[in-house]
Amino acid sequence: MVRGDTGAVVSPSAKAVRAVRSALTAHGPLSRAELIERTGLARSTVARTVQTLLDHGELRETEPRSTAGRGRPPALVTFAGDVEIVGFLGLSHSELRAVVLTHEGEVVAERRTPFDSLSRESDPISVGAGLLDEAVADLGGGYAAEVSAIAFGMPGAYVPGIGLTGASELEEQVATIVGTGGLPDWMRGDPAVTLRERFGVPAVAENDANLMALGEVHFGAGAGASGVLVVKLVDGVGAGLVINGRLFRGAAGMAGEIAHVSVAEDGPPCLCGRRGCLAAVLATTALTAPGTLRDAPARLGDVFARAAFGDSNVLADLLTSVRYLGRVIGDLCVWLNPDAIVLAGLDEVVGARVIASLAGEIEARAGRLVGESTTLALGALGPDADVMGGFVLLRGLLASRA
Ligand SMILES: [Zn+2]
Repeated sequence: MVRGDTGAVVSPSAKAVRAVRSALTAHGPLSRAELIERTGLARSTVARTVQTLLDHGELRETEPRSTAGRGRPPALVTFAGDVEIVGFLGLSHSELRAVVLTHEGEVVAERRTPFDSLSRESDPISVGAGLLDEAVADLGGGYAAEVSAIAFGMPGAYVPGIGLTGASELEEQVATIVGTGGLPDWMRGDPAVTLRERFGVPAVAENDANLMALGEVHFGAGAGASGVLVVKLVDGVGAGLVINGRLFRGAAGMAGEIAHVSVAEDGPPCLCGRRGCLAAVLATTALTAPGTLRDAPARLGDVFARAAFGDSNVLADLLTSVRYLGRVIGDLCVWLNPDAIVLAGLDEVVGARVIASLAGEIEARAGRLVGESTTLALGALGPDADVMGGFVLLRGLLASRA
């Protein structure tokens, strides 16, 4: 532990740690003076960072290169061993991401590719596995050559050992959306099992909204709260419920699927085959509002993006839509009286407007005591909260094997 001039314990910044790691990765063992030269960091910063990494066992001091010349040559520092890594694969409706993290949860490499989750031609597990291999190769020296565990995040209700649940309903949705019968093959099994076989390491899969919920509860805006509802407003609407730090999935993985809560009797038809679901009403509200999204796809993400870029027409539509969301969340508050509700994945400016509108709706539906005792907050981790949720599961997997 290094103490600053004031005697207080000072931790090195993440930036300094990264700079020291990448200099050692690129050049091999270096003296402290060489590290100062290579990183451009201050002498005291290098000393503090190196000492912390030595204390953590990530670095070790090694024999000086030469004994020639005058005086004792400076000690060199190098990696004690390769930094161990884990992998996260995130599938949305339109994109696939491969993220590499250290065992401490630091993101060290990432690759993305456009991907249609309903495509029957390509399989997100094999494409994702290739993408993850590339991301690991990007790291170079100093890191383990292989991940020690993998997490897979995906849209749709998930149950371990089964995979996506509600396959027959899904089959009808796929037929409606892409005009063909039949699910992509990967949806018929548990992706965790496939990944375990492909990589030969522990693997886990989970619904994307549930992962965002775990991420926000363990590392973000829901930290310290015991009953947390995290509402995902990226690429559709969904929610995850975390009680005393543990995910509540429900009997068939359907807990938190608020997109299909009915908000309007005889409302617009929904892809699930019923009418007036929140998802259908949100899409239709944005679509039919005057002068806004006539030429654009009716996706919630697009509405939020337009609102974030200052499209005031869309913002008004958005707030109308949010009132429907408020009804659903308000009723949930009556049932659960959660400590905190976190809205994950929203831009700050839009998020502030959405929260103001939601707070009124919740109090109107659930009453003042419930409204006042439930904290409403924007997610702290942005759209990548799912990555940190995946890390929570991976950390658990590795701990259970240790
Ligand atoms: Zn529905």
